[in-house]
Amino acid sequence: MQDFDENRIQPFILQNKSFYVKREELLDPLLSGNKYWKLYALIQMPKERYKKLVSYGGIQSNAMLSIAALCHQKGWAFHYTCKPVAEHLKQQPTGNLRKSLDLGMVLHEVWHDDYHACVQQLKENRDVDSLFVPQGGADPIAQIGIEQLAIEIKQWQKKQSIEQLNIVTPSGTGTTAFYLAQALPECQVLTTAVVGDTAYLMSQMEMLGALPKNLILLEGSKKYHFAKPYAELLEIYHDLLAAGITFDLIYGAVMWKVLLQHESVMQDTVLYIHSGGVLGNVSMLDRYKHKGML
Ligand SMILES: *Cc1c(COP(=O)(O)O)cnc(C)c1O
Repeated sequence: MQDFDENRIQPFILQNKSFYVKREELLDPLLSGNKYWKLYALIQMPKERYKKLVSYGGIQSNAMLSIAALCHQKGWAFHYTCKPVAEHLKQQPTGNLRKSLDLGMVLHEVWHDDYHACVQQLKENRDVDSLFVPQGGADPIAQIGIEQLAIEIKQWQKKQSIEQLNIVTPSGTGTTAFYLAQALPECQVLTTAVVGDTAYLMSQMEMLGALPKNLILLEGSKKYHFAKPYAELLEIYHDLLAAGITFDLIYGAVMWKVLLQHESVMQDTVLYIHSGGVLGNVSMLDRYKHKGML
């Protein structure tokens, strides 16, 4: 295994192609990957500022676990609203749900039909002691931390004298890729839509502002349904693992699949930003096993 750069950047070879990976999954065992940077402004905040954080979304969400870890560190209550949870998961919570509950998360299950109204109510609550964090941490507050990430990338690029740098990272809400592109206008930021299609991702990003010109949305030859098991995603996950790094099965696996289909991107230096989510692999691997794929 090669040495780390001071900013956790490491050479990585996959299918005879050279990359660099910024190992943000190693930042902290729980608060890791891009969620660390998206929540950075809150990590820096004094404990006294809030009593409670409120959010909502998927029941195995990586953002949920990161916020649970943040609240645990700060002594803030964490209330999370979700759609009905499957009975077997309620009886025996696994993965990110299990960890988040262990960290003190209070779960509020609401019926499908009431979900949107409940979320709207959470958004409108103006309690000064409590903070609302949108699903996946898609909030302008993320910009502060992503700019710090950009500073580290710039330092490394300068030290390595890399002229043209392509930065790659997968997108859910697109918040990370958007603010990275904005902070690094002289680099290309390449991403792919893992949740929904490219048009949906663009509409999500446009809520943050006009799309930066250096932000490029790559498409793969095949569209994967979000967080579903696929033999070829499991395969690339194993290839990446054999090459020396564990990536997550939901975002990372799709991003690498798509990246390897774009030869032109690899003509310049590629820096892949590891977005974390590795702890979520436990419950995904369970699903692969359950389906007899593993
Ligand atoms: C949350 C997450 C993403 C998506 O980040 P966005 O800023 O919402 O685009 C990508 N990869 C992993 C592993 C994540 O947990």
